[in-house]
Amino acid sequence: MINFKRVNKWYGSYHALNDVTAEVARGEVIVVCGPSGSGKSTLIRTVNRLEDIQNGTIEFGGKDVNSPVLDINKFRSHVGFVFQSFNLFPHLSVAENIMLAPMSVQKKKKSDARQRAAQLLERVGLASKADSYPGQLSGGQQQRVAIARALAMDPPAMLFDEPTSALDPEMVGEVLQVMKSLARDGMTMMCVTHEMNFAREVADRVWFMDNGCLVESGNPDTFFSNPQSDRAKKFLSDLRTH
Ligand code: ADP
Ligand code: MG
Repeated sequence: MINFKRVNKWYGSYHALNDVTAEVARGEVIVVCGPSGSGKSTLIRTVNRLEDIQNGTIEFGGKDVNSPVLDINKFRSHVGFVFQSFNLFPHLSVAENIMLAPMSVQKKKKSDARQRAAQLLERVGLASKADSYPGQLSGGQQQRVAIARALAMDPPAMLFDEPTSALDPEMVGEVLQVMKSLARDGMTMMCVTHEMNFAREVADRVWFMDNGCLVESGNPDTFFSNPQSDRAKKFLSDLRTH
């Protein structure tokens, strides 16, 4: 589904992604971890071309993401992306936030978009909040709306960049729960997160990044019990001391 081949990216003279080669299969859940500044956000943002790369290739569903003929707005609207900040439109209701892209990009009828929004809100446990405004919701609820909004475009894969990092601790669980249910339903997912219990339970594979390199890729049991590199050992032991 997502295919990185010898991907390199520089910010000026800083080598942010160093020869990354990796694949995400259909239905697979990847957790990307690694120290701050290791290139996790950069990597995930290259998938929908929020960041350009200087060489290598990235394919998404067989399409070359960096092709000059790709309709980038259309492409981006179909890749579900959930960030740390929710970025909901404050002047639109929860349902309207979810209906916006399906109506403007997919040209869905308002009644169809509303029906779909209701289904998705049900799915993320917020059926009663359709007519609320984002400012009336907790952070965890807003992030679940952001997930519903992404799902409204029927994305073939979902990308998450630290979706729970800005939340108060008591709200982390409800967002992870929604992500778990997506994973169970077979969604292809690439998740940058520090939630190592989530990685253990849900990930098919863990990618460990350091210094722009994809240092390790393995199943969670192996990664957590028997990390291969010194860098991964140090990362895990630092996490445990925190
Ligand atoms: P992570 O998500 O793992 O914390 P990032 O991908 O955000 O790491 O950043 C990787 C490295 O690239 C960091 O050293 C960061 O300072 C640098 N970087 C990120 N974005 C930019 C940018 N827009 N311009 C210059 N350097 C950047
Ligand atoms: Mg980051």
